[in-house]
Amino acid sequence: MKEFKQAMACAALLLTTLVMAGTTQALAGGDLQSVVDEAHAKFKDLKDGKNADYIPELDKVPSELFGIAIITVDGKVYTAGDVDYAFSIQSVAKPFTAALVMEEQGVEALHEKIGVEPTGMPFNSVMAIQLNEQRSVNPLVNAGAIAAVSMLDANSPEQRWDMLLKWYSDLAGDKLTLLDDVYVSESETNYNNRAIANMLYNFGRLYSDPMEAVDVYTKECSVGVTAKQLAMMGATIANNGKNPKTGKQLISPENIPELLAIMFMAGFYDEVGEWAYSAALPAKTGVGGGIVAVVPGKMAIVAFSPRLNEAGNSVRALKAIEYISRSRSLGVFGPNPF
Ligand code: GLN
Repeated sequence: MKEFKQAMACAALLLTTLVMAGTTQALAGGDLQSVVDEAHAKFKDLKDGKNADYIPELDKVPSELFGIAIITVDGKVYTAGDVDYAFSIQSVAKPFTAALVMEEQGVEALHEKIGVEPTGMPFNSVMAIQLNEQRSVNPLVNAGAIAAVSMLDANSPEQRWDMLLKWYSDLAGDKLTLLDDVYVSESETNYNNRAIANMLYNFGRLYSDPMEAVDVYTKECSVGVTAKQLAMMGATIANNGKNPKTGKQLISPENIPELLAIMFMAGFYDEVGEWAYSAALPAKTGVGGGIVAVVPGKMAIVAFSPRLNEAGNSVRALKAIEYISRSRSLGVFGPNPF
């Protein structure tokens, strides 16, 4: 019995050492560059899915583009592929807008006036608004995101937009701009989002003029961002709200847990369970093909590629981040290897 206990203690020690070695290895720069290269090589030939076409301009983006970027909390950058192409941020902007609402009005205001429940339904669902008493449901689906824009403290549509664009630029540590063609294209086709805004207003769950909120929301989705810029935005969340490049404290550290919780529960829409089960990271996807995932306290992982699956999530980006998370045990619940 004594020998057995000793053997068990030895095995436990060995396991702990291995896990710790794994963690250290995962954070070593050389390995981060390797894992980014591995993920790019592994999925570059994957052709599944197709560009979003309900916003005509997105269908014109070259489908072969594929980039991966990791930025650590100390500002180190690891990349592979097309990381300097400015794609439209689309729904990946949503957690950053939610963060600004939290900064202005606190986490409780966001909870009360929007909500934090995942819908289990597509991102543009009208039915989710009808079925849930909170209506706007959470700030990472279209309804809640339009409501978040309407909550921002602004006196005019211009001011509402200017403050958002400045906020995203501060988070990226770089000047971001609007992709005019995407904005025009989405403005001409966003009848569903206009319906959502009107419904929310009708239920008393929208806090500005509905068409102003939709217009600024459409601009927010049309912001151009590279994988590297988006990774800096994500790394700011990973770094407890402080931008690793500029050193500016943008998001209050006390708001980070709530922000990450919403991303974990609602960042992948009706595919969020699959994502939590496989990659186990708070994240946000967009129909422009971008995904940002946050490894709290450590890094942000971004991947971008335009072809989407049925839920509107980039096939290659999803696979690449899932591979990086699992192969280097980065998931928030501990080792979860392939
Ligand atoms: N602008 C898009 C829309 O409102 C955003 C959707 C997305 O990226 N999932 O439909």
